[in-house]
Amino acid sequence: MRKYSKLDLTSITNHNRINVFNCILEGKTINRSVIAKKVGLSIPAVMSITDDLIEKSIIYAVGKGESHGGKRPEMLSVVPDRFFFIGVDVGRTSVRVVVMNNCRDVVYKASKPTESVEPDDLIGQITEMTMDGIKEAKVPNDKIVGVGVAMPGLIERGTGRVLFSPNFGWRDVPLQDKLKACLPFNVLVENANRALTVGEINNMQLKPTSCVIGVNLAYGIGSAVVLPNGLYYGASGTSGEIGHIIVENHGAYCSCGNYGCIESIASGDAIARQARIAIDNKIQTSIAEKCGGDLKKLDAKMVFDAAKEGDSLAQSLVKKAADYIGKGLAIAINMLDPEQIILCGGLTLNGEFFIDMIKKAVSKYQMNHAGRNVQIVVGKSGLYATAIGGAWIVVNNIDFLSDN
Ligand SMILES: [Zn+2]
Repeated sequence: MRKYSKLDLTSITNHNRINVFNCILEGKTINRSVIAKKVGLSIPAVMSITDDLIEKSIIYAVGKGESHGGKRPEMLSVVPDRFFFIGVDVGRTSVRVVVMNNCRDVVYKASKPTESVEPDDLIGQITEMTMDGIKEAKVPNDKIVGVGVAMPGLIERGTGRVLFSPNFGWRDVPLQDKLKACLPFNVLVENANRALTVGEINNMQLKPTSCVIGVNLAYGIGSAVVLPNGLYYGASGTSGEIGHIIVENHGAYCSCGNYGCIESIASGDAIARQARIAIDNKIQTSIAEKCGGDLKKLDAKMVFDAAKEGDSLAQSLVKKAADYIGKGLAIAINMLDPEQIILCGGLTLNGEFFIDMIKKAVSKYQMNHAGRNVQIVVGKSGLYATAIGGAWIVVNNIDFLSDN
């Protein structure tokens, strides 16, 4: 028989505690014998864990449930306001903050335009919006487990250092350390696409059995790969850069320094840029009216709105974007054969027609018979999905159940 070291036993105890807690969270109101069956533990083992969680006010006894022959069992639920998790989405156009409670409900959310891309200014904005959110949600500091900050770009795993963020023009910014110096909480900085994907998977209650890919179609384009045991980072932590697959050899300049990346053609920023160039070249389009003639105000949503109304320039830009996104997804499907691709981000909120175009492009480019089981779905968390994902990064990476 294998002998377990003290460390092994601690991690098994923690693992069991997390499973029991998650079972109560999913069941909403549940008794100990159902928990024991679901998590595969003995009733005494479940009792020892639940007694401890009750003592720490993490769960509570709601009352008696229905009897199935014997005594009426005691029903257990999660205490919603025992812990809180903060999520921040640092977007190029908006900064969004959410406060999530112990039942994983969002109890506060707020969004403000990104005031500056200068690191210290932006850190100031993140700090202020986080502290305002906590104040408005009336959450005491000692109940906050941590702040999960979702940041676009290459993030060094473990240190939360931004190695390179093309959208912000940042190189080597120790964002996690700087935020830790400003906020009285644990701070974790994670790549925005990874946070978003983790959030969607949890909100959709998916349990990957092979591979799930989340794709963020927004100001930029990125993705994250999730395997059954969690996020896949790759050998140097840079996996998921689907937006920087080069699809046009002499294409437009991309913020990453290359030319012809999918992001340089199909991202929200690229769609708006191509519309501006077309208007500058005197091409007739209703997009010009939508921005009141001020090209600085022109954004991707105006192009999508014009496409829906039948504007031919807008339609061709949207179709081209969908085609290149489909090409990128087909490459990912051929490589990884995922069970699910979750499309998220602002561009997916422009209507079913865009999603249908992407799906058609995927079937056009994907290899025959490859990825037969893949389902392409749209994320469910809307505009705050990335911020919610930031909060989930805290849930998944800080052991709040045994520390308290
Ligand atoms: Zn690129």
